[in-house]
Amino acid sequence: MDRVRTRFAPSPTGFMHIGNLRTALYCYLFAKQNGGDFILRIEDTDVERTVEGAIDIIYQTLKESNIKVDEGPLQGGEYGPYVQTQRKDIYMKYALELVEKGAAYYCFCDKERLDSLVGENGIKRYDKHCLHLSKEEVAMRLARGDKWVIRQNMPTEGVSEFDDLVFGHVTIPNNELEDQILIKSDGLPTYNFANVIDDHLMKISHVMRGNEYLSSTPKYNLLYDAFGWEHPQYVHLTPIMKDAQRKLSKRHGDANFNDFTEKGYLPEAIINYIALLGWSPKGEEEKFSMDELIEKFSISGLSRSSSIFDEAKMKWLNGEYIKELDFDRFMDLATPFFEKSKVKGLYDYRKLGVLIQSRIEILSEIPEKVDFLAEFTPANRDMYFNKKFKIDDNLAKVVLEKSIEELKDYDNWTIDGLHEAIAKISEELEVKPGVTYTVLRIALTGVMVTPGGSPEMADILGKEESLKRLNESLKSLL
Ligand code: GLU
Repeated sequence: MDRVRTRFAPSPTGFMHIGNLRTALYCYLFAKQNGGDFILRIEDTDVERTVEGAIDIIYQTLKESNIKVDEGPLQGGEYGPYVQTQRKDIYMKYALELVEKGAAYYCFCDKERLDSLVGENGIKRYDKHCLHLSKEEVAMRLARGDKWVIRQNMPTEGVSEFDDLVFGHVTIPNNELEDQILIKSDGLPTYNFANVIDDHLMKISHVMRGNEYLSSTPKYNLLYDAFGWEHPQYVHLTPIMKDAQRKLSKRHGDANFNDFTEKGYLPEAIINYIALLGWSPKGEEEKFSMDELIEKFSISGLSRSSSIFDEAKMKWLNGEYIKELDFDRFMDLATPFFEKSKVKGLYDYRKLGVLIQSRIEILSEIPEKVDFLAEFTPANRDMYFNKKFKIDDNLAKVVLEKSIEELKDYDNWTIDGLHEAIAKISEELEVKPGVTYTVLRIALTGVMVTPGGSPEMADILGKEESLKRLNESLKSLL
């Protein structure tokens, strides 16, 4: 096999949605697995749809996702430029070559005429009207400055066949192929033309892209044939669906990479999750690093049916990644979320971080996990005496009185020190330590469920605040 070269060819039309990112990922995995090259090409010939800043989002998303581009607009490379609007002259040269060969022709039909064409089954399709213009007439109309496009001259009989590495052998009757536009009236190529020219000139070995291009592939193959070029291998990918009926779509703003990272998904978890949307690894394992994905990915594991995006599953996977983060990295990522919470500036984020790292699935859950610490209302008797704890309020009162007594002069206000103090209090009162822990935890926080026990809560709150809260909670039992 020739050197494996894949390309990701996004159009800069907005945020990068998960489906696009998955295409980039598969291209990257396949190239790297085979020791080949991964190329980024910006397909910006639909100037009206180009959105400012979208190219930077593409660069940024690939970078954050750890998908490394070998050749592209920023990296350069032997086959550049890698932005299609900068290749305008190249396309025109090849289009003229096709006109010369009779595989393409100038078309001068105006909108009105095109609108009036209604073919079989009510489908509008071009009727090859301008294919029959004489050379002289074409030259005259060009010289006169008439508006033109260049169209591909499709065969009208027979069938086109090709092999796709996912969909197998595909056969399409040629009479379904319209004489599509190759060069638009603004002089820029359509996707349908540019993809062929670029994939050939950039020596792309495997074209991996969405299966919406499957039925157009014979048209591209006819272009390769007209030039006498070899076809690339095709790998068409099934879409990612929002639900059984609807595709995830960039136009509808669904499932953008940036939305997920803002919510506190880790890029490595997003990548791991989307790798599994449409590709099944062998075995039960679901958690893969990028290196493992490069090793395990296989075209034979790609699915022919679409996959449904399941955010709950991605969230679960993200939680697994969060648990395994090195604590300093976790804190770097978590700090902005602490800053958005009610504990902002009040308590030590690192101490809180230790408690919640294993208790969240996405970082944006941080405020809801810690806000209770800043919203204290004294605990009431039902919080001790209930199905869960069954600590009657008299006992709670005794424990609180004794604890306040012991703790007010206690100096070793650390987690270990507080454990010791609680042991001593329990022993002297002859109550089970579990009761003392629970009473103090509830009294300190005013809630029944906390991430961490009473020593951790008291340590985070500090001595002064802790004693103030214990007194207030005691008061509400009197
Ligand atoms: N620019 C096309 C798109 O964004 C790329 C398709 C392809 O990979 O060939 O859909």
